[in-house]
Amino acid sequence: MSDPPFRIDVLTLFPDWFAGLLDTSLLGRARDAGVVRVDVHDLRAWTSDRHRTADDEPYGGGAGMVLKPEPFFAAVEDLYGDVDARPRTVVLTPRGALLDQERVRDLAGAGHLLLLCGRYEGIDERVHEVLAHDEVSIGDYVLAGGEAAAAVVIEAVTRLLPGVMGNEQSATDESHAHGLLEYPQYTRPASFRGMEVPEVLRSGDHGRVEAWRRDRAIERTRRVRPDLYARWRAIGGAGADDLTPGGDRRLNQGGD
Ligand code: SAH
Repeated sequence: MSDPPFRIDVLTLFPDWFAGLLDTSLLGRARDAGVVRVDVHDLRAWTSDRHRTADDEPYGGGAGMVLKPEPFFAAVEDLYGDVDARPRTVVLTPRGALLDQERVRDLAGAGHLLLLCGRYEGIDERVHEVLAHDEVSIGDYVLAGGEAAAAVVIEAVTRLLPGVMGNEQSATDESHAHGLLEYPQYTRPASFRGMEVPEVLRSGDHGRVEAWRRDRAIERTRRVRPDLYARWRAIGGAGADDLTPGGDRRLNQGGD
C-alpha cells in the first residue's frame, strides 16, 4: 500500500513556465513514482470578462499593475469548494519570510500545497490577508514573477518526500540540516591537476573523517555565513575555538 501522492497546486498567469521543469529529473521521477502530483492552473481560467483581465491599476496611483483578487478567490472556491477547504496556501512574495530549510521541512509535512504566483507589482492585499497561510520570499531580490520562486519551493519540498532521493541520508547530512553549511565533498580521482584529496578522507578512519567534516563545516559557516554561525552558536553549537584537537575528538564517543 503506498501513500497518496503529495499534492501541489500552482496558480499562475504563465502555466507554460512549468512545462519542462515538471518532466525533468527529480520531479519527473517523483511524479512517475506516484510520490508527488503537481497541477498547474491558469489563473486566467477564473477571469470573467471578455478580455480575461487578471490585473488592474493600483488604488492610490503608482507604476504598474496589480493582480485582481477575484480570480484567486474564484479559483480556490472552484478547486476546493470553499475558501476554508483550501490546502496550505503559500503566496510567493519578496515581502514574505525568507525561505529556509526549516520552512521547507514544514511545508513538506503539509500533504497538499497551493502556491500563488504574483506578477507585475504583485497581488491585491486581500488575497494575502484571506488566502495565505504562508508568505514566502526566496531571497532579498525582486523577480518578475512568482513562478521561479514556486519552482524553488516545489523542488526543495519534493526532494524531502519519502522515496524521492536515492539516499535518505543525504537529506539529514547536508547544508542547513543542522544549522551549518556542508563540509567539502570530493570524488575520484584522488589527485587531479596537482590538487590532492585530503589524506584524512582516504584514511578509512571513520572517526577522523567525521571530526574533519565537522570542523570544515564549522569553519566554512563562520567564514561564508556569519549569520548562520551566530545562530548555530546561540542554539548550543560548539565554536570555532572548539575545533577538534588533532581532528580525533570523536574517536572515543562510542556510536558506530
Ligand atoms: N512590487 C512588489 C514586487 C512584485 S514582483 C514588491 O515590491 O514587493 C512580481 C511578483 O514576483 C511578486 O508578486 C511575487 O509573486 C514574485 N516575486 C518577486 N520576487 C520574489 C521573491 N524574492 N520571492 C518570491 N516571490 C517573488
